[in-house]
Amino acid sequence: MVVGAGLAGWRLVEALRRDGYEGEVTVIGDEQHRPYDRPPLSKQVLAGVVDVDDTTLVHPNSPHDVTWRLGVAATALDVERHEVHLAGGERVAATHIAIATGTRARRFTSSAGERVHALRTIDDVIGLNADLARVTPGATVAIIGGGFIGAEVATSLTKRGYRAIVLEGAARPLLGPLGAEVSSWLVDLPAAAGVELRCSQQISDVVVEDDALRLRIEGAPDVVAPVVIAGVGAVPNADWLVDSGLVLDNGVVVDRAMQAAPGIAAIGDVARFAWSGPTGPGLTRMEHWQVANDHAATLARAWLAGEPHDGPFVPYFWSDQYGKKIQMLGHPDPDDQVLRVHGALEAGRWLALYHRDGVVTGVVALSSPRALMLAKVLLETPTDVAEAVALAPWVS
Ligand SMILES: Cc1cc2nc3c(=O)[nH]c(=O)nc-3n(C[C@H](O)[C@H](O)[C@H](O)COP(=O)(O)OP(=O)(O)OC[C@H]3O[C@@H](n4cnc5c(N)ncnc54)[C@H](O)[C@@H]3O)c2cc1C
Repeated sequence: MVVGAGLAGWRLVEALRRDGYEGEVTVIGDEQHRPYDRPPLSKQVLAGVVDVDDTTLVHPNSPHDVTWRLGVAATALDVERHEVHLAGGERVAATHIAIATGTRARRFTSSAGERVHALRTIDDVIGLNADLARVTPGATVAIIGGGFIGAEVATSLTKRGYRAIVLEGAARPLLGPLGAEVSSWLVDLPAAAGVELRCSQQISDVVVEDDALRLRIEGAPDVVAPVVIAGVGAVPNADWLVDSGLVLDNGVVVDRAMQAAPGIAAIGDVARFAWSGPTGPGLTRMEHWQVANDHAATLARAWLAGEPHDGPFVPYFWSDQYGKKIQMLGHPDPDDQVLRVHGALEAGRWLALYHRDGVVTGVVALSSPRALMLAKVLLETPTDVAEAVALAPWVS
């Protein structure tokens, strides 16, 4: 049984069937929709060039036989009995249970309540588009948070003719995930793409004022906008497991084979998994599309072949923002040292290595996808940074 009808859950179904599993599979999801892809929501869907229906991950002719239980939330897990409790009181048992409940958007708390949009689901996009339909293109849309989602939303809305203002709390966007140096290389991108970025903005409240919203900002002028969207992070959907006895610590803690308990696993955004990176082992949780795919393949193998995939696991994510593509391999600490080894800031194309204690911990690139992929080898086994520079795989 798979709890969570999202990317990781569906990829697990596909991997199990592909690897020969012919038994029953039930997929439980609290959304009404079959699994769909989220990355296009803030990009092509919000830009108006892809329809929400085209984000589905389940092809109409999918050969995979599945019992769908959609529009119903799992509310508890009985680990001893291998039973999932559903809203409404029903209990469903299975020999193997995969927890794939992902994350939800963190809500921005203010007097305006739900009038401040979040962007995580198809229903969020539909609600946002209905609100945008009230205002004419050219109107100001305020975006709280200049992280990955905020930047993509601002980019898409600018393409549709809105005036996007991004209000970022930190001194620079992406300071947290990418660190001081790399974030400083990206700070001019919004203006070049026609987006106004205001940093160090502490929003004390958002209040409804006639047809618009007023954002009150400490020590700065208010911003008034008819539509406000917040991209302020995500929270793991693990609350329903609080009485299960599973180890919960910023997600569901699992081992290398994604197991939380015998026959019970967690994958995707909700999983805090054992990962041995270039500088040693640790527990980590990643909200990356590719990681959800990799988890599903690892779990299918663990359940069907009795062993986890033991090849190198190199985390990957990308973001399309302000007309550029940011890509990252590995999972560096934002405090790791950074060495730019390819391209130039002025050219808007570059590649840099993160390193710690002389070992490469990550590769980040701006609009240099080929160079990035060539550099993946540096993370497959621990690589000395001087050796990486000598090898320069990114110029092959
Ligand atoms: C707008 C957007 C853009 C993104 N862009 C990128 C990108 O460019 N690059 C990148 O690497 N990653 C991106 N991501 C992240 C990527 O989409 C996620 O890493 C991926 O969706 C994780 O898959 P998942 O299956 O773990 O979780 P989800 O896709 O969140 O699926 C989990 C499902 O479980 C359901 N659920 C939750 N609780 C329950 C419950 N109690 N009972 C039943 N069902 C439940 C949820 O409603 C959801 O349908 C983006 C995410 C968003 C929201």
